[in-house]
Amino acid sequence: MYSNKILGHKNVLNHLKALLLSKRVPPSIIFNGRQGVGKFITATEFAKSINCSREKPQEDAASLGLFQNQNKTEKKADEVKPCNYCLSCKQIESGAHPDVRIIDSAFQARLLDEDVKKQKKLKIDTVREFSKYAYKKPLLSEHKVLIVNDADTLTRESQNAMLKLLEEPPKNTFFILISSQKNAFLPTVLSRCHTIEFGPLSIEDVEEILARNNIPLNEAALLSGFSNGSVKTAMDMKRIMAKLQKIDTSSPAYPFKLSSTLPKESYLAREETRLMLNILLTKTHQKWIISNDLNQKNDLKILIKETLKLKTFLNQNVMPTPILELAASECLTHGITLGFIKKHRD
Ligand SMILES: [Zn+2]
Repeated sequence: MYSNKILGHKNVLNHLKALLLSKRVPPSIIFNGRQGVGKFITATEFAKSINCSREKPQEDAASLGLFQNQNKTEKKADEVKPCNYCLSCKQIESGAHPDVRIIDSAFQARLLDEDVKKQKKLKIDTVREFSKYAYKKPLLSEHKVLIVNDADTLTRESQNAMLKLLEEPPKNTFFILISSQKNAFLPTVLSRCHTIEFGPLSIEDVEEILARNNIPLNEAALLSGFSNGSVKTAMDMKRIMAKLQKIDTSSPAYPFKLSSTLPKESYLAREETRLMLNILLTKTHQKWIISNDLNQKNDLKILIKETLKLKTFLNQNVMPTPILELAASECLTHGITLGFIKKHRD
């Protein structure tokens, strides 16, 4: 295993391993894929591999007996795997490595002395700041690694300002641009980067990650089923389910009560509505599977089609409130609600 911190993504990890082993890591890489599948953790583990010194910390290596039994074959297999005990690995892990920098909304908020919630786009000032940093010599390790999180929020101006940096990167400097919407990049940026695509996680991997994060097993199993292979979606579902548990979903007026709880920001309301429609679709599909009544099966098929149609309206700037009300009301007439059985408190 390349790193036991990363679940799934076997092909991506093999690809990264091959790049490291061949010592041909492209200077500018895009990690693209939906949110919550592990792109950021992969980027930090990759940064560890790039800079790992594999030098044992002097004080405790001998007492722990590390490396003594390691034969040559093991060393070869582990050549690109971060050791997690050298100073470089430890500093990357704690976010204190002077040559590995995370560029994100928090970085920009500190730079501009603004509220982090207001940083919806990565601005040109941020690009100028990390460009200066990129041209400095590394302090601790051989390489500098700049990880730009949510790089798809770089404005057009910011992307143009990065072109020279991506085309002729400073020696020993790597850029990892993390994105969930590759089409937000200018073609000139895309053509200068090596893109690596991340697919969704398996339901089992999502479940395991949730369990590792102290979510009870029964809840992790339920959430992963609605996750679409994304831990972020599973966590969003957790928040929505907590909200749904406070609403009496057997009441005919519940769709309207529910829509009044949608977030004020339209993009958040849209996302929440999309997730609730996914719950309704899954529940309708489950009911369709177990039904033996042909007429009911047909009705449920029509309902799935209608709900899917309503879901497409969410991409067309239609207000999410009436979409949610309509979908929830239609499903209610077929006995399908957004309710969940309340959790046992053993
Ligand atoms: Zn290391």
